[in-house]
Amino acid sequence: MTYDEAKPEALPAKSTWNYHPDLPLQDRSLFNLKRGPAEGLKLLWGSWLPISDRLIVVSLSILTWFYLSPSLQTARSFTFDWVAGVYLRNLIMISLLAGGMHLYLYTFKMQGNRLRYDARPFHKKNALFTFSSQFLDNVFWSLASGVTVWTSYEVLGLWAYANGYMPMLDFTNHPIWFVVWFILLPFYGVVHFYWIHRLLHWGPIYNHVHSLHHRNVNVGPWSGMSMHPIEHIGYLSSVLIHFVIASHPIHFIFQLQSKVLLAVSSHAGYESVTAGENSDAGLKVGDFFHQLHHRYFECNYGEPEVPCDKWFGTFHDGSEDATARTRLRTKEMRKK
Ligand SMILES: [Zn+2]
Ligand SMILES: [Zn+2]
Repeated sequence: MTYDEAKPEALPAKSTWNYHPDLPLQDRSLFNLKRGPAEGLKLLWGSWLPISDRLIVVSLSILTWFYLSPSLQTARSFTFDWVAGVYLRNLIMISLLAGGMHLYLYTFKMQGNRLRYDARPFHKKNALFTFSSQFLDNVFWSLASGVTVWTSYEVLGLWAYANGYMPMLDFTNHPIWFVVWFILLPFYGVVHFYWIHRLLHWGPIYNHVHSLHHRNVNVGPWSGMSMHPIEHIGYLSSVLIHFVIASHPIHFIFQLQSKVLLAVSSHAGYESVTAGENSDAGLKVGDFFHQLHHRYFECNYGEPEVPCDKWFGTFHDGSEDATARTRLRTKEMRKK
């Protein structure tokens, strides 16, 4: 029996979440073939327009390329100045986004607990975390490891484009492909993330590497990129695809910024950022699908856009039945 044919499932008790989207979560991906192509295209349209976090990242990556990146002439050889410039720019970018969201949502509580998934406070004195503080732990790993690995990939990419090791595609000669890559790369990113993430949940790698990210059962913006350096290397390695496909540095920068900045926003802990406690106008940021992963661990390794979890039997739709199935799977995994 597939998920779609299943009987209605028991919903979680009211006390389990402060807020959750409609449950059980539905497969909202393009890949649900029963839905038909017209409905699929409508979903794709809605995931980008009229405004979405990823459209903002496209704009940001274009601005970054034109105004905040070295020329390819400069990037032909590594020198301290331009590498440090990219590092500093990335440091500022993540600090503005994660810092800004943290201030807005958690320090000044501008929308209270409205649309917040889990209203429990962050840990302030817990030896599990570096510096015994969830906030400081998350900031430290995001900046010290996250920005360093992000910058290393970006610097490597710019150098590779400049020297012809990454095949180049420009807008003037290939306008359609230029646009199509923005649409396709996120799908590839989800499949890559699913398998890397499953590997990260394998016993020894989980214990030594991925458990650092999972210190956060309740997440905030700084949790998104709070990872062990080995996880950062694996997580961002999807950009190595640019060694084999022809693309523009804007695509490369877009893919990196999507991975980093959307990890920050999707761990916001809130479904949407709104213009205040009583406002309905807002930008969808959080990802309840991944919030379930942080609470129940052995489920939802991917992202809902490509339903790998559904295909491989690891989907948690937010229902009590799915929690029971996940607990059973966790038990079996630990026996091995
Ligand atoms: Zn995980
Ligand atoms: Zn996470």
